[in-house]
Amino acid sequence: MPRIIRLSICLLVLFSNSLFAKELQQVTLQLSWYEQFQFAGYYMAKEKGFYNEEGLTVDIKPFDVKNQPITPQKVADGDIDFAVAKETLILSKSHSKRIVFLYALFQSSPLVLLSTKASKIDSFARFIDKRVMASIADAKQASLKAMLSANNVKEDDLIFLNHSHNIEDLINKKTDLMSAYISRAPYYLEKKGVQYNIFNPKDYGFDLYSDFLYTSEHFMANNIDTAKAFRKASLRGWQYAFDNIAETVDIVFDKYNEQNLTKEALLFEAREVKKLAYLNTTEIGSINENKIRKSFELYKVLGIEKDAIDFTQLIYDPKKPTIFLTEREKIYLEKIQKITICIDPNWLPYEGFDDNGKHIGINTEFLDIFRKQLPVPIETVETDSWSQSIVFAEQRKCDLLSLAASTPERKKYLNFTSPYLVFPRVLVTKTNSPFINNFTLLTNKIIGVPKGYAHQDIIKKDYPDIIVVEVETIKDGLQKVANGSLYGFIGSLNTVDLFLEDEFLGKLKVSGKFAQDRKLGIGVRNDEPLLLSIFEKLVSNLSQEQINNITEKKTLIKYVDKVDYNLLKWILFIVFMVVLAFLYRQSVLKSLNKKLNRKVAEKTKALLYLNASLELKIQERTEKIEHSKKLLQSVAYRDSLTGIFNRHYLLEKSDSFFQESNLLNTPLSILLIDIDYFKKVNDVYGHLTGDRILKYFVSNIQKELRADDLFARYGGEEFILLLPKTNLDESSKVAEKLRRIIEKNPYNTDTLDTVINITISIGASQYQQGETLEKLIDKADSALYLAKEGGRNQVQIIDQEESDIKK
Ligand code: GH3
Ligand code: MG
Ligand code: MG
Repeated sequence: MPRIIRLSICLLVLFSNSLFAKELQQVTLQLSWYEQFQFAGYYMAKEKGFYNEEGLTVDIKPFDVKNQPITPQKVADGDIDFAVAKETLILSKSHSKRIVFLYALFQSSPLVLLSTKASKIDSFARFIDKRVMASIADAKQASLKAMLSANNVKEDDLIFLNHSHNIEDLINKKTDLMSAYISRAPYYLEKKGVQYNIFNPKDYGFDLYSDFLYTSEHFMANNIDTAKAFRKASLRGWQYAFDNIAETVDIVFDKYNEQNLTKEALLFEAREVKKLAYLNTTEIGSINENKIRKSFELYKVLGIEKDAIDFTQLIYDPKKPTIFLTEREKIYLEKIQKITICIDPNWLPYEGFDDNGKHIGINTEFLDIFRKQLPVPIETVETDSWSQSIVFAEQRKCDLLSLAASTPERKKYLNFTSPYLVFPRVLVTKTNSPFINNFTLLTNKIIGVPKGYAHQDIIKKDYPDIIVVEVETIKDGLQKVANGSLYGFIGSLNTVDLFLEDEFLGKLKVSGKFAQDRKLGIGVRNDEPLLLSIFEKLVSNLSQEQINNITEKKTLIKYVDKVDYNLLKWILFIVFMVVLAFLYRQSVLKSLNKKLNRKVAEKTKALLYLNASLELKIQERTEKIEHSKKLLQSVAYRDSLTGIFNRHYLLEKSDSFFQESNLLNTPLSILLIDIDYFKKVNDVYGHLTGDRILKYFVSNIQKELRADDLFARYGGEEFILLLPKTNLDESSKVAEKLRRIIEKNPYNTDTLDTVINITISIGASQYQQGETLEKLIDKADSALYLAKEGGRNQVQIIDQEESDIKK
């Protein structure tokens, strides 16, 4: 009985596994010729499971001569999902087949004309009245036609024969010239020892793409993710095929060989195909709109094509975002003619209005990317505040709400695209407030949030006991924290950070990060579902690289530079005055001209230096902003003043120190370091100098540390040093060394022109198995107490027995 149960459980598990396995989506691929290496990338993507990994299963449809001409129509109609085509594919587009190029495998068309050396046809002059085998499709290829035309060979000069696709016919003189793929035919000629001439359009400057992978506009508009997945897996297949030619040839030989090609012939083809794929590019499949346009022009010049062509929605290029609209979406946009957007007028560098009412800020760069893809304009509706923008959005005075987070309240009248800007949501407090991980500790504290922002909905939901009050602007809120009327302020790291580095430097700090990031997308009026699908497409077209480029580096600076701009003006003013003063002196003291010149040179140098340092400052600032995200991760564990670890980190990390000591039976010691009479330092020289001294002290200690020592600011001017693999005796020596270094390195103030002597007192103790950190610190604190009592600037230790104190 139990056995049966076990068996049925097994079966159940097996069954449910297959039930829950992700269902693969079936797509079709139409090839453009008989099975050969020319399609090896698709075969390998299938064989190696690359399609499956993308959630696809692919039905590769064999070549069929009769169906070949109607393939583009079938793709446009959706009967076939994807197909491979030669350079003439562009003509289908001009005949209103709604197709989209996904990539071009061959960077140059493989189609050439061949003659045997024996025929003596070695120049175009000898083409007159010669027989040529070229299929109808071949004859239409712009590259061949252009080459002939450019060399004064008219179509009437040639006698066209039906193409037998049999190279023997060239050798046996059944034709004088034959069109053929450079990747195939030369192999057979060489094998038979027949010498030949190649007329390759590429050599005459007619270098066109071939072997496109394409799909339909309809498919792109409705299933772009599938198209991207298919494209990606196919390119991966090609990469694999080219990197593993021998293995790929074996597989084509065994499984995809309806022409019964030899391995040798396949190998020849493989090498030629690889050359064509990598010609002038390092990236398989690269496709350039200009080159496509050029080839289309060629068709026009040659008279093959007369109609114009619509190049919008023609090429899918992951580097150049393009929106593929459904018919309904196109009609909808035609109807509405423009889209209106409400923005946050007071949120630079993200967005705002300049003095002329122009929408500025980094979000305009995103909107510009969207605009390029849309057939209708996006117009900004001016508002005074974010709250007003929200009201406008609700009243349908604008179709879109810019950079908005989704909240239940807003969902009553807006839909939201996926977010494209994600900001850490942080708590800002005064510098002396503790770091907070658990926000329930903020119960009954008064916390500011900017008016109209989604922060408060989220905070109220998760932490109902926090007292949330609205403030008018971010700056206003921070001001209130600084003057004590608010305990803290909640905002986006990226925005508050700019203020913290500027006006509130040293007064406020980021003291915690909320789990819920602030995710901003576009709010779209919820009575227009097509508008949402259009903007969702635009947002998903943004690559992470694009987002990073916009949100980092210089762009941010461009919009926040007010302060630096003032600084620049100020510096220029001073420099101007200095120069003026010197000019004055120059006129008065003509006799001292030489001397003066030297001084002017010096000043010029100083000016250059000032400029350089200004640039440096701007650069530093850029870097700071770039790092602010990374900084955040460490902010909860690091002390914002000195940059070393904080008490928090120490509490979390100490366990691993204890474990290591227990496990390896190695000693572990602690030093508790306290700066002597630091209050006095602050009183005499000011708090700012005190801060600088703390940093200076830390840097001096840091120089002496080993890699696995843990140095943390325990609070105020108290520091803890955990020394692994160090016993009490050794640790007291370390302590003594540190004490001496601090004593010997007084702090030189730049501004006050004085030297400030600093001393420290240290209490040392050794960890005993089973002790808590609290206990260990307690012991060190007792030792420190003795050091202070003993007159400061000294080290005291406390051993296991706690009471037995030695010096
Ligand atoms: P002693 O330890 O030698 O007994 O004297 P002390 O003056 O250092 O004593 P106490 O520990 O009572 O005072 C520590 C002072 O350190 C209080 C505060 O003014 C100063 N302090 C603490 N944190 C900071 C800080 O971040 N910056 C500055 N500038 N001062 C700080
Ligand atoms: Mg002290
Ligand atoms: Mg102290």
